Amino acid sequence: MEKHKLTPLSELGEFGLIERLTHGFENHQPSTFKGIGDDAAVLHLGQQATVLSTDMLVEGIHFNLAYVPLKHLGYKAVAVNLSDIYAMNATPTQITVSLAVSNRFSLEALDELYQGIRMACERHKVDLVGGDTCAAPAGMTLSITVLGQAPADELCYRSGAKPADLICVSGDLGAAYLGLQLLERERLLFQKEGIQPELSGYDYLLERQLKPEPRRDLLEELRRLGIRPNAMIDVSDGLSSELLHLCKQSGLGCKVFEDKIPIDAMTEKVAKEFHLDPTLCALNGGEDYELLFTLPLADYDKAQANPYFTLIGHMIEDPDLKVLVARDGTHLPLRAQGWNAFEHKA
Ligand code: ADP
Ligand code: MG
Repeated sequence: MEKHKLTPLSELGEFGLIERLTHGFENHQPSTFKGIGDDAAVLHLGQQATVLSTDMLVEGIHFNLAYVPLKHLGYKAVAVNLSDIYAMNATPTQITVSLAVSNRFSLEALDELYQGIRMACERHKVDLVGGDTCAAPAGMTLSITVLGQAPADELCYRSGAKPADLICVSGDLGAAYLGLQLLERERLLFQKEGIQPELSGYDYLLERQLKPEPRRDLLEELRRLGIRPNAMIDVSDGLSSELLHLCKQSGLGCKVFEDKIPIDAMTEKVAKEFHLDPTLCALNGGEDYELLFTLPLADYDKAQANPYFTLIGHMIEDPDLKVLVARDGTHLPLRAQGWNAFEHKA
């Protein structure tokens, strides 16, 4: 009904569009010397190490606009990039946003996308310092690059884990995956039978899928405790996959305990609704954007019973042993993916 009010992108032209989208973004970082508006941004990065990461999101592959509001997409696109920087134990400082869109999108739609981008920038004090905007024959592709900084000796690599290190993970796992299952289920019901989506009561899972919050607060908590991880990685592809990355890059094995894996009660409940094993949702689901890290065993007293993170196991010397100890005591090999890996448990 509101269709006639939407503004086609062609009405603005490229420069008008860029101006409109980037209007009102304020810079927070002293290292941002010149942001948007010239041929290149100018940054004064000083003495610290600079970290750089980039992520591309393609409509139909990474997101489905049937159920992802554009504002959430903008927020999440920035959030997942920030998560990579936090996983290095660094502070994100600047981003660039590159956008390819078809004329299916209106100015109002892109405004919403940039509202989400702006919310993430403001919350994390990150400056939008550039990007690119172009037309695409179909759909939307969004590529975000993020810069960050840290003293070189504070960076946490995937390769830094030591034998007997404690393995810890922030927050809880598996919820974002189930949020996606819920959205997909409702989308199919709507498509096939015209049934209106009924998603009330599932807020936590939906929020975890649609609006992940990168864990800067965990880094602050670790600093407060005087703890520095030996190794760290963010959980984007599921706990198993990230554990295997840590093991491979550190040349070690690991032992994690199923009954220690943090899973929210809502995740447990909805997993059962879908006839899924909640542990498998945590191991293989992904998109949690929590931080997985290892600590020296000596930090055990400082690290235990902390509300920000859970101890789930420890690293071991033998690189060929990557084990999940199930609730019944059975040892199962950790696999990167695949719902068949622990089939006999279901
Ligand atoms: P050029 O022609 O030199 O590539 P543009 O006209 O594409 O420059 O961009 C003008 C300015 O706007 C630059 O500072 C660029 O980084 C910025 N910019 C372009 N598109 C975007 C976007 N989608 N988001 C944020 N900044 C953008
Ligand atoms: Mg350009």
